[in-house]
Amino acid sequence: MKISENISLGPLNSFGVDGRARRLVEWESAAELARVDFSEPWMALGGGNNVLFTTDYDGTLVKSVARGIAVTGETAETVRVRAEAGVDWDDFVAWCVERGFWGVENLSAIPGTVGAAPIQNIGAYGAEVGDVVVAVECFCVETGGVLTLAREHCGFGYRSSVFKGVLRGRVVVTAVEFGLSKEPRPNLKYAVLAERVAKISSPPAPPAGETTTPQESGLLVQIRGAVMEIRSGKLPDVRVLGNAGSFFKNPAVSAEMGRLLAERYPAMPVYPTGEGGSKLSAGWLIEAAGWRGRSVGRVGIHRDQALVVVNLGGATGEEIVEFARRVQDDVRAKFGVDLEPEVNVLPQAR
Ligand SMILES: Cc1cc2nc3c(=O)[nH]c(=O)nc-3n(C[C@H](O)[C@H](O)[C@H](O)COP(=O)(O)OP(=O)(O)OC[C@H]3O[C@@H](n4cnc5c(N)ncnc54)[C@H](O)[C@@H]3O)c2cc1C
Repeated sequence: MKISENISLGPLNSFGVDGRARRLVEWESAAELARVDFSEPWMALGGGNNVLFTTDYDGTLVKSVARGIAVTGETAETVRVRAEAGVDWDDFVAWCVERGFWGVENLSAIPGTVGAAPIQNIGAYGAEVGDVVVAVECFCVETGGVLTLAREHCGFGYRSSVFKGVLRGRVVVTAVEFGLSKEPRPNLKYAVLAERVAKISSPPAPPAGETTTPQESGLLVQIRGAVMEIRSGKLPDVRVLGNAGSFFKNPAVSAEMGRLLAERYPAMPVYPTGEGGSKLSAGWLIEAAGWRGRSVGRVGIHRDQALVVVNLGGATGEEIVEFARRVQDDVRAKFGVDLEPEVNVLPQAR
């Protein structure tokens, strides 16, 4: 376990917001976590890709550096894989794809760690991590014990889980177990992805005398490649323009409100949800409110991605929050719809 005092926050968050934290504890096991003083303010931190610090952090950041991945069980068609919290998410996806394990390829190139993936139930291109989680292992800061939550108890929903709800600030995720398929399970329900996969030509034949395994050259690799291509063309590089991906969630409204909005704004995308309500596109609302590509001081909305708030250089967390508030106010004034941040704005009330 490594403990550092009075550390700089800049390298620890993808918004590139400056500041300091009282302490950083880098841990490898639940036994090490048991030695941390959780009576003081604390929070778990992964890669810092979904957090926005608005002040210095006067507490302890606990960050996993446990990076094991192992197969824990398999049948002819399925495989269970356990990955520790500190594993880089995309390294985990690459590991699975290399072995021909289906289930996480649509989630390629989402920045972050395995430990953070269940927190907001990361999702992209018609897939969510909750679809393949079997269990989440946690350290409970209240009892000092470890507990394993089966998927059914994780409360996965759209960008939400029990870890963002009743368990927030009470557990640290130490590892996640995934149930994957050895049989092809292409998920191409997103038209953009299906089109891109169709365009990717088969890889060139290996040099004479060499062979490739089917896993190395198949559809699985192509899907991962297509997702990575689409993402790199759409999202700003955090090393150039600090950001946290989508700043806002797609708002959920009642079916009645969805119907009225669709009537009034025929171009507005309104999708039915499974629960009898309607889902709107936050990106569309922000763009229609005239914010795409606009900036105020050192903060702006990316010119290609209306959902992405960017730090144009040197912005503070407070400036970013203030900017987001202006966008929220305009969208509310124009459409009567509330935008809720997807990003964890810190400090949060316990
Ligand atoms: C360019 C870009 C693109 C993105 N695209 C997507 C996308 O397509 N889909 C998507 O869903 N998200 C996306 N995101 C958001 C982000 O990648 C995910 O939320 C990711 O899971 C964050 O991982 P992290 O390790 O950086 O978590 P952090 O930002 O460090 O933490 C996020 C939250 O999880 C908590 N947490 C972290 N680790 C643990 C742990 N071990 N135990 C308990 N709590 C923990 C933190 O306290 C915090 O509340 C994007 C972000 C960026 C910057």
